[in-house]
Amino acid sequence: MKQKKTPRRFAILDRDGTIIVEKHYLADPHQVELLPGAAAGLRMMSAAGLGLLVVTNQSGIGRGYFDPHTLDKINARLDDLLLAAGVTLDGYYVCPHIPEDNCQCRKPAPGLGAQAAREHDFDLQSAFMIGDKLSDLQFGRNIGAVTILTRTGYGTVTEQECHPGPDYVVDDLLGAARIIGQIITEEGQNVGSASLS
Ligand SMILES: [Mg+2]
Ligand SMILES: [Zn+2]
Repeated sequence: MKQKKTPRRFAILDRDGTIIVEKHYLADPHQVELLPGAAAGLRMMSAAGLGLLVVTNQSGIGRGYFDPHTLDKINARLDDLLLAAGVTLDGYYVCPHIPEDNCQCRKPAPGLGAQAAREHDFDLQSAFMIGDKLSDLQFGRNIGAVTILTRTGYGTVTEQECHPGPDYVVDDLLGAARIIGQIITEEGQNVGSASLS
């Protein structure tokens, strides 16, 4: 009998203010700084079998503050820092546009989520969207993912402003990883009890 392959689950992460310290149009690879709990949280998600993708709005490119090559260097610096902590990301999805471009890839528009799901072959509704801004949470809702707000970056401000709130609010990525671990465990138990009845 042919076994149906269970698609891998993914955590989709905002970059600035979620994985690294928010620097307001970060344009220098030397300014990349991991937030507390980021490496440990990502390592835990990875150990739980999740794929890890970054979806990030980088309008600094569209505004002419830095070019795509610089962005690549910044992301490569982040990869280096994470690799030293035992974490490998599965990919980056970047919107380089300014809001006035009305593109389909700037969060909260769902474009990059759809592209990521296509290219990595996963179900968006089983994904977790983790970020610090309202646009991250709206993006998460738009793609049908579980939404998790981190109290890093703009997160504490977002927590006051977002109605309806996200599915979960946590202090940092370690908190997010713990919540995700609980959700996966509970789902496993539900599947187990359903198959017994
Ligand atoms: Mg952010
Ligand atoms: Zn865009």
